[in-house]
Amino acid sequence: MLNNLKPQPADKILALMALYRDDPRPTKIDLGVGVYKNAEGVTPVMRAVKEAERRLVEEQTSKAYVALAGDPAYSNAMIELVLNNVVDRGRIAAVATPGGTGAVRQAFELIKGVSPDATVWVSNPTWPNHVSILNYLGMNHTAYRYFDSETRGVDFDGMIEDLAGASAGDVVLLHGCCHNPTGANLNQTQWQTVVDLLNEKGLIPMIDIAYQGFGDGLEEDAAATRLVASSVPECLIAASCSKNFGVYRERTGLLMAISEDAGNTAVTQGNLNHLNRQNFSFPPDHGARVVTTILTDDALRADWAAELEDTRLGMLRLREQLASELQRASGSDRFGFLAQHRGMFSRLGASADLVERLRAEHGIYMVSDSRLNIAGLNETTVPILAKAIVETGI
Ligand code: PMP
Repeated sequence: MLNNLKPQPADKILALMALYRDDPRPTKIDLGVGVYKNAEGVTPVMRAVKEAERRLVEEQTSKAYVALAGDPAYSNAMIELVLNNVVDRGRIAAVATPGGTGAVRQAFELIKGVSPDATVWVSNPTWPNHVSILNYLGMNHTAYRYFDSETRGVDFDGMIEDLAGASAGDVVLLHGCCHNPTGANLNQTQWQTVVDLLNEKGLIPMIDIAYQGFGDGLEEDAAATRLVASSVPECLIAASCSKNFGVYRERTGLLMAISEDAGNTAVTQGNLNHLNRQNFSFPPDHGARVVTTILTDDALRADWAAELEDTRLGMLRLREQLASELQRASGSDRFGFLAQHRGMFSRLGASADLVERLRAEHGIYMVSDSRLNIAGLNETTVPILAKAIVETGI
């Protein structure tokens, strides 16, 4: 059996990480992998996470199973963090999942089970795992225009034109904030236009929110998700705690499914529980418990929010520094988009050949679609990157 297996295509980002590791140049810069790194290149354990873990070690008396949906206190805390009571709690079913990826996967499976003919509309481009999981599940999907390679902003007219071609019951996957991989996001007016279109055409939004607190602030970054969720009859939301709590390896996510009518919530909840049961039974608990401990303790929550805010502002400063260094080095404003983008990523809009030259000639590593991780920079490396970008002719 096993000798009939075909090799899986190499994951581009993991392959890039290996190349970086083996590169002997001391000046090499890693802008590839999607984790936050501080100025020292470290992905730290956040202070509040350490403290919550300390308390857990001392106070936890059992590691027995919790529940198929995870601890209800975790769902409640996360629903409050993401939605802040803009939707009647009675309409929301939720399950803890292994990371945001687990939530995305369960959402897709839910759609596949109940609406096998629906098409899932994804932005072009989107987080590659969206497309890869949709393919793996054999689901219908198609892309809507999103990134404008001229302005490096959102091609909003193209997006709306494409989504106008969707059929009632189709699902539209939207990034709640900090679009990955482009960094380009809709403004509030544009979100309202999307909401109107969803309602007009009977489309179901699925929101992937993996970077709340990395863009404009914890509340600001949830604003679009709250607007959509409070304006449509049904909505799916996949939330990840990996980035904003820095608990990547603990696999901490939540899938929320909002029904039109609270009378339907128990059945929706039962279906979410069933999906967990089939796929992995009980979801991981440690990260979820840490997140719950932080969100339900005023002092810990304030400390977490403060550290997250420092992280966000640090990335914003790097964006601004990079945009101004590039303006100086190139003598043009064409890189101003870097200061407008939000989140950890920006798509430079360079060809794969130029990205390869940046790696070969300058030891600068980014994904071949020219996505760069802003958090891979620091004040010292920003001018080096700016110079390399201009020298390479990007
Ligand atoms: N959605 C998007 C858009 C992401 O960028 C990520 C992280 N790379 C995720 C979901 C899921 O992350 P995780 O499974 O690590 O929580």
